[in-house]
Amino acid sequence: MDFAPSDEQRAIQETFRVFAERELRPAAAELDRNPRFPRELFLRAGELGLFGMRYPEPEGSGADVVSYVLAMEQMARGCLAVAAACAMQSLMGTVFVQRFAPPDVRERLLPGALRGEIVGAICMTEPDAGSDLMAMTTRAVERNGRHHLSGAKTWVTSAHDAAMFTVLARTGEKSLSVFLVEAGATGLSIGKDIDKCGVRASLTSEVCFDDTPATCLLGEKDAGGAYLKEVLAEIRVMTAALALGVAGAAFDEALTYSGERRQFGRPIRDFQAVQAHLAEMAVDLEAARRITYWAACRSDQGLRNENESAMAELFASEAALRVCDRAARVLASYGYASEYPVERYLRDVRFTLIGGGTSEILRGAIARGLWT
Ligand SMILES: Cc1cc2nc3c(=O)[nH]c(=O)nc-3n(C[C@H](O)[C@H](O)[C@H](O)COP(=O)(O)OP(=O)(O)OC[C@H]3O[C@@H](n4cnc5c(N)ncnc54)[C@H](O)[C@@H]3O)c2cc1C
Repeated sequence: MDFAPSDEQRAIQETFRVFAERELRPAAAELDRNPRFPRELFLRAGELGLFGMRYPEPEGSGADVVSYVLAMEQMARGCLAVAAACAMQSLMGTVFVQRFAPPDVRERLLPGALRGEIVGAICMTEPDAGSDLMAMTTRAVERNGRHHLSGAKTWVTSAHDAAMFTVLARTGEKSLSVFLVEAGATGLSIGKDIDKCGVRASLTSEVCFDDTPATCLLGEKDAGGAYLKEVLAEIRVMTAALALGVAGAAFDEALTYSGERRQFGRPIRDFQAVQAHLAEMAVDLEAARRITYWAACRSDQGLRNENESAMAELFASEAALRVCDRAARVLASYGYASEYPVERYLRDVRFTLIGGGTSEILRGAIARGLWT
């Protein structure tokens, strides 16, 4: 059965298609060369309602997962780095504040965050705790009714520009809790940006806490692990959408180039070997699109989605890597030159094989889901 978006979903897709085409795509190469936090584009994404899509009215717009996925896919077609930074804001950087912050804190931070004026970061990963978050050593201790955090996080997206940090910390031998820390808190320091090969304008840094007072605990103590599980499916479908977006951009580039580039007196798309690349790319793209929309639809229908979202991310991100690689082969030397965007797509796409869980972690989760 074919996936047919509703009029409303189509309108959201079109809004973000135009934004990506007119504003993200023209900015992408310069942001890659000279990485910086893309504040003006972040604010525009806020104006277009990206950050409140998944939150109920009146704060958000209460859009469904399919609409969110369509928007994120379009963003990633324009610039995966900006899309990645915006993805953090629209989900992990704000979701626990939206769900659990006390009314005064919510009122002070959330409206600005949903407009993109206040940046929210998520601090989970540590130098020695990546996939294995239960190995984290950042601890929270309660003193005079307030939690104080100590430890080091890394790979925190948009940390230098963030005003609010959602932090996972250990509160028991086998339990984690979620805290809100605000910029300017004592003992909070932000390290250097990590120099990385792709999504370079989605800046990532180390964040350290030295007996730092948290603004508040978000939700129940010791419930951090359970809260993470609740949002995992959405993170994974959204990461699949990011992969789909960058793969779509790479495919378009290769298709156009193959019609324009002439060798041996003919457009290179006349050669069967080049046609094989284009055909394989089209198949991967179509299959990735279908599995991603399928997983998003299941979320909206309230159906079981843990395995399906992991399958969508695994397939879409691996397919996107293949598509970007084939695009580079079609462009040959021009796929290796920064004058064309394909070499950037090939660097950027690797992010989708890590965020939301590495392919290895996803395979393990899918396999376990087959018998549990
Ligand atoms: C661009 C970018 C932005 C990020 N933004 C954030 C952010 O905002 N906040 C944040 O907290 N984190 C962020 N991260 C960190 C990200 O969540 C972690 O990189 C990810 O969880 C993987 O951890 P790791 O890199 O330490 O890899 P590791 O967990 O050390 O994995 C290393 C290798 O071992 C494999 N492996 C590990 N465990 C298993 C297992 N059980 N079974 C099979 N294979 C396994 C992995 O698949 C991988 O191949 C970001 C990362 C990137 C690249």
